Amino acid sequence: MSIRFGPAGASDSFYEEGHKSSLEMPEWLKNRGLNAFEYQCGRGVQIKDGTAGRLGLLAVEQGIQLSLHAPYYINLSTTDPAMQVKTRGHLIKSLCIARAMGAKTVVFHPGSGSGGDRKEILSRAKVFFKEILAEVEEQALSNIVLAPETMGKNNQLGSLEEVLELCELGEQVRPCVDFGHLHAVSRGGLTEQAAFAVLLDRIEERLGIAYLQDLHIHFSPVEFTAGGEKKHRNGLEPGYGPDFALLAELLIERGLTPTIICESAGRQAEDACTYRDIYFELLGKC
Ligand SMILES: [Zn+2]
Repeated sequence: MSIRFGPAGASDSFYEEGHKSSLEMPEWLKNRGLNAFEYQCGRGVQIKDGTAGRLGLLAVEQGIQLSLHAPYYINLSTTDPAMQVKTRGHLIKSLCIARAMGAKTVVFHPGSGSGGDRKEILSRAKVFFKEILAEVEEQALSNIVLAPETMGKNNQLGSLEEVLELCELGEQVRPCVDFGHLHAVSRGGLTEQAAFAVLLDRIEERLGIAYLQDLHIHFSPVEFTAGGEKKHRNGLEPGYGPDFALLAELLIERGLTPTIICESAGRQAEDACTYRDIYFELLGKC
């Protein structure tokens, strides 16, 4: 494995340059020296099997590793039977389309963390998630990584500990660590390198080094309030953390080779290039 950088969805510049189709994305990314892309299905899986297959072939040709962001409507902790059916459907459909495009990972938001005791909410989510994983196995979709994401608001399920606990339910389940979200939910907790190191140590301690080695990472500057994440920002807007260089140094020190997906507002590809440059500049100094 080697480290990879890429955007979540398309930057404004992609459209400004006249591009429309995600099929144009692999070449566009290759030309910018990026090698990962997270296809966005946040508002539902709309892409057809055939298009997904074509995107997958183009991605292979251009050396782009694909992942997919599942719909935002997934809620593992829901008690509403109709919502449970939908959650199951969104996850299975995301995995099917990920298979069609050859995506390695499906990232998803675990669900609501409010309306009761947090431990009970998590246990409920785990019971339901186990059922879904059994169905995923029946449908022969276990070879795609399912990645619950660390979330940016207190009322969302998805603290690092909660995500790690979900990851213990099956080999296919691996964390998506969103450092912007963790910075927001801790109201600016990631200002020193030691805070990043604690998170990496915790993942290794709980899941093992193999999970840390090729971790799926989301990184972008985030604005937050007392409740956590308010808005994703970008590199042209000064004053928003966390600082990627703090993480990059640790990745180099520990020889880690994650995939880093940038979710900056409107400039996700540009900021992914900045992160890549920071990483390789630091690597060159070692
Ligand atoms: Zn997300």
